[in-house]
Amino acid sequence: MAETDTAPGAQQFIPPQADTIDELRAAATGCQGCELYRNASQTVFGRGDETARVVLVGEQPGDLEDQKGLPFVGPAGRLLRKAVDDAGIDPQHIYLTNAVKHFRFELRGKRRIHQSPDRVHITACRPWLVAEFARLHPEIVVVLGATAAKALLGPSFRVTKQRGELLPWPASAQRPEDFTRVPVDSEGKVADAPAARLLATIHPSAVLRADDQDVAYAGLVKDLTVGARALAAAVRPTAGQGG
Ligand code: SF4
Repeated sequence: MAETDTAPGAQQFIPPQADTIDELRAAATGCQGCELYRNASQTVFGRGDETARVVLVGEQPGDLEDQKGLPFVGPAGRLLRKAVDDAGIDPQHIYLTNAVKHFRFELRGKRRIHQSPDRVHITACRPWLVAEFARLHPEIVVVLGATAAKALLGPSFRVTKQRGELLPWPASAQRPEDFTRVPVDSEGKVADAPAARLLATIHPSAVLRADDQDVAYAGLVKDLTVGARALAAAVRPTAGQGG
């Protein structure tokens, strides 16, 4: 797989008339914003409840996700849903996405081995994430693992140090302006995205790789419980009131 330092970015593939997540998803199937589209099977866009109070952001699709075209359908996804449930958040009412929408891997024989995306891929793919946030209205954005945290918060953020802490969003972003003044309609009108809170934790695949999976899983649930408590303490405006 060719290494590049620059990529054109996804922005040019996002049509201004894409007002809904479904329209974004359809447009993303043709994205060539970086080299990763070449070897992966398909774009894996976010999915879930578009009115969800919690949006969870992972690193990139894995092998199974790449084949199925859906995020978080493998073992890590199952574990994440269980952890969400155990934390007291309804797994039917979450939205799941990734910072990078194509699977990056290297071939070893016939096996496709996961490779973490580079900064160039994260930056190229960020417009899709920004577009998703602009159309969703999460109260809590959960970032799963170091790659997703870097994509949102910048390279100096350390999940190990700041996991389980509620942070102001998008004020904590590396470039808050990337997530606030964003297009919200087909005429390109720009508006502030609703403020949310951000919570970083480990990626569920890290639980599967851990020497002591029980301890790692308990840590994931503990972090997510911080989000669940914050939701319980907040009152969401009723439908039709915006927000
Ligand atoms: S990884 Fe993102 S920017 Fe790169 S081609 Fe895929 S969708 Fe486009």
